[in-house]
Amino acid sequence: MQKKEMLYEGKAKKVFATEEPEIYIVSYKDDATAFNGQKKGTIVGKGVVNNRMSNFMFRLLEQQGIPTHYIEELNDRETAVKKVSIVPLEVIVRNTAAGSLSKRLGLPEGTPMKTPVLEYSYKNDELGDPMVNDYHILAMDLATREELDKIAAMSFKINELMVEFFRSVGVDLIDFKIEFGKTTAGEIILADEISPDTCRFWDVNTHEKLDKDRFRRDMGGVEEAYDEMMKRIGLR
Ligand code: UDP
Repeated sequence: MQKKEMLYEGKAKKVFATEEPEIYIVSYKDDATAFNGQKKGTIVGKGVVNNRMSNFMFRLLEQQGIPTHYIEELNDRETAVKKVSIVPLEVIVRNTAAGSLSKRLGLPEGTPMKTPVLEYSYKNDELGDPMVNDYHILAMDLATREELDKIAAMSFKINELMVEFFRSVGVDLIDFKIEFGKTTAGEIILADEISPDTCRFWDVNTHEKLDKDRFRRDMGGVEEAYDEMMKRIGLR
């Protein structure tokens, strides 16, 4: 698989075309941003962690019947994926209150949710990824009713599978963000990444944070936390 021209450079990844029209290569960077790009930095080795952890999770989810964009890990930072057009939504699933939900609803961080909470944000940096609901999504034609139903059902299933897996390695899955893509054939599949950048992971016993909140909140031990997550899932 050969990289051809770069199609897109985001905050944490680059996407390249290949000689195969239906296959892209994603390349993960160590660049870290938070608060809609206002805070910038580097997390040494993050690209490797996010690439390898995402691929591990995608393989696990595929085995449980969730279609994903994953094709093949090429090296520590690069992966071949199916070409998709990204549905411009950040899909967030929450099991425990934290971050923006805690602020918005006045729930202390760590408050368990009685049932999982599904939220959508419209992916638009200029607007700061505003939260939207089904009506906004349909009215703006960001997805069809059928696509949105599929996205919601897949998101809850992904949450169940991920909660169970991370529990088994001593980690509470507090919340996470995923993105979906549409293949040329029109199928909705899981895309983007699943990593400490996009999930909140707390140690089951100590509640120590093992994710990007350590960077967002200047807590220190960022690289160590990413490394610990790799150890927990058996990749180090
Ligand atoms: N998240 C993400 N990208 C974003 C915003 C949020 O990956 O642009 C993830 C974040 O890591 C957390 C979950 O989505 O696991 C919920 O984030 P929240 O809405 O609480 O926002 P934050 O507090 O990160 O601003």
